[in-house]
Amino acid sequence: MKIYNSLTKEIEQFKPINKREVKIYTCGPTVYDYAHVGNFRTYLLSDIVIRTLKYLNFKVKSVMNITDVGHLTSDADEGEDKLLKGAKREGKTAWEIAKIYEDIFKKEIKKMNFLEVDYLPRVTDHIKEQINLIKELERKSYTYKTSDGIYFDTSKFKNYQKLAQLDLKGLREGARVKVNPEKKNKHDFALWKFSPKNIKRDMEWNSPWGKGFPGWHIECSAMSMKYLGETIDLHLGGVDLKPVHHTNEIAQSEAATGKKFVNYWVHGEFLLIEGKKMSKSKGNYYALGQIEEKGIEPLALRYLFLTTHYRQSMNLTLEALKGCQTALNKLREKVISLKKEKDIKGVGNIAKTKALRKEFIKFISNDFNLPEALALMWQVLRSNLGASEKLNLVLDFDKVFGFNLSQVKAKKNLVKKEIQALALKRQALRQKGEFSKADRLRKEIEDKGYLIEDTSRGPAIKKK
Ligand code: AMP
Ligand code: ZN
Repeated sequence: MKIYNSLTKEIEQFKPINKREVKIYTCGPTVYDYAHVGNFRTYLLSDIVIRTLKYLNFKVKSVMNITDVGHLTSDADEGEDKLLKGAKREGKTAWEIAKIYEDIFKKEIKKMNFLEVDYLPRVTDHIKEQINLIKELERKSYTYKTSDGIYFDTSKFKNYQKLAQLDLKGLREGARVKVNPEKKNKHDFALWKFSPKNIKRDMEWNSPWGKGFPGWHIECSAMSMKYLGETIDLHLGGVDLKPVHHTNEIAQSEAATGKKFVNYWVHGEFLLIEGKKMSKSKGNYYALGQIEEKGIEPLALRYLFLTTHYRQSMNLTLEALKGCQTALNKLREKVISLKKEKDIKGVGNIAKTKALRKEFIKFISNDFNLPEALALMWQVLRSNLGASEKLNLVLDFDKVFGFNLSQVKAKKNLVKKEIQALALKRQALRQKGEFSKADRLRKEIEDKGYLIEDTSRGPAIKKK
């Protein structure tokens, strides 16, 4: 397995810490609103990494956090609290908002057919762990207090800049935001923020430093360490998290433990819309539900994402999505017909089947090259292999693609539903005495491969 490591900026041979159990952490959603499909591109990367490693027989332990505390909107610990922003928008408390959008997120990841991660911890359930980590940093003299919180002193962490080489350009950009005059160094970041005086926040906790709430970055370090240990194999997120969030995660974690925090950093490129990053603040986004309203299944979005390598940005267009829906439908039809043919003896070519599977493994092991793997699947379908060999290969590959092809029968019911709807329409026309229109529908039903018989108990539909 080869993985591009954003830390070293090189493709590296993947060596897990513990030979057969890979520990993966993915920065999850802030549940103050619907996730947009750009966010889903990054979460899908996490699913693909997990599926690929499982396919390659690694055991995986995975965590994705649910950020249900409103860290502040800018990377510089300033600005508006996102959860409070959601609460104001909808006239609810921050707690209510978090619950609503966490539930929606959980439904949406099912629709995208993500494998269940082992842990999906909430930040509000881990305040104690975060406080303990800050206490440890304080004990080791990495912290200082200002009027609004406890900060991490980046000048004390020797390797801050070195590790931040993740993306120095991004770091400079991060530094452009308004500088808090009480900060000792411009990159210092809040570990704990105090509640404003005389204001009762929806979400606030007691701490050794006073009532308040955790800074944004500390949650991921605390939860990663709790569930996966002090050093983990892979940490994932979108590229925008590199310069500040992940740089700070490294600094505070390594300062606290004296150990390397993450061996491989994997960052997904952006989903764009008309060439610009899809983002909430620009308003140029689709939520998953909005895609569904256009008759596109979440799995077609999944298909689209797999057509571009995760380290390349990709533009989202409705045309491309529709094309992927068509491709997915075609793929399902192929699987259905292969299932029917399955028992008929095919050309039979064990060596070729093996070689194709090897090819597949080569692609997915090469820094998760899913576009090549997807093209290979179509090559299999066009090949002269026997039906059962094709079917076995495609269902095997689908363990990584996640199109749920083994369940493809469900689609058959959908066809039936459509026929049933036509039959009901025809029945209504007959009751109104509009027999010629009703006959036209009978013809349409027949053309779709079904027969309709009028019995004493109403119309019965049979497959031709
Ligand atoms: P946020 O809710 O902004 O913290 O984003 C959640 C995750 O989605 C992070 O890993 C981001 O890097 C990622 N993300 C945000 N916008 C995009 C985008 N347009 N394309 C891909 N990933 C994104
Ligand atoms: Zn994170």
